[in-house]
Amino acid sequence: MLPINEIFETIQGEACKAGTPSVFVRLQACPVRCPWCDTKHTWFVDSERRVSIADMMIKTEDTNTWAMMSPEDVLLAVQAFSARHVVITGGEPALYDLRPLTTLLVGSGFSVQLETSGTQAIQAHPYTWVTVSPKVGMPGRRSVLGETLLRANEIKHPVGKPADIQNLLSLPIEHALKPEIWLQPLSQSRKATELCIREATVRNWRVSIQTQKYIGVR
Ligand code: SF4
Repeated sequence: MLPINEIFETIQGEACKAGTPSVFVRLQACPVRCPWCDTKHTWFVDSERRVSIADMMIKTEDTNTWAMMSPEDVLLAVQAFSARHVVITGGEPALYDLRPLTTLLVGSGFSVQLETSGTQAIQAHPYTWVTVSPKVGMPGRRSVLGETLLRANEIKHPVGKPADIQNLLSLPIEHALKPEIWLQPLSQSRKATELCIREATVRNWRVSIQTQKYIGVR
């Protein structure tokens, strides 16, 4: 059973899968505590905020309410949409054993992507596309794990200032098997975007623009 904050359909806007119609499944809970987190309402699993699956599915605002769902419940919910790509996000979804859910989704014909901070070991079907957005030195004091970087299909790093590049370089990314590395400017800042372009060009990395924020979707 998994605490689910929301399930909705949109276009994946970031990194390698940008442009892909997707059903986002957002799990509740995250101990990383990034100061600039835009999903702070997912940090805690407050039992008083538990709602029914039906109520969770119809909510239209970011709230800290959540519903407990089995993998079968989630499959039923995502099958109600058109998209055949499922993005499991959070919160920090890798806090949970995602093997039952990802195995069910893959077996039902979905492609599956997992977005994680890299601070937990990945428990997911081997076909799961793992996007690690490493959070270094955050108040939650969680370390980015080498084994999770090794499992990553892509690394998507939020960048606001030069120190963020240094944080990325401090990680053992050279050991990752497929180090497709994306630098993503924070908050569409021009300065951060220029920094990302400069660093990506020098290092042959890539720049991830949060296209969902430019086309006005979630
Ligand atoms: S890891 Fe993600 S959900 Fe958790 S605090 Fe950081 S940005 Fe927010």
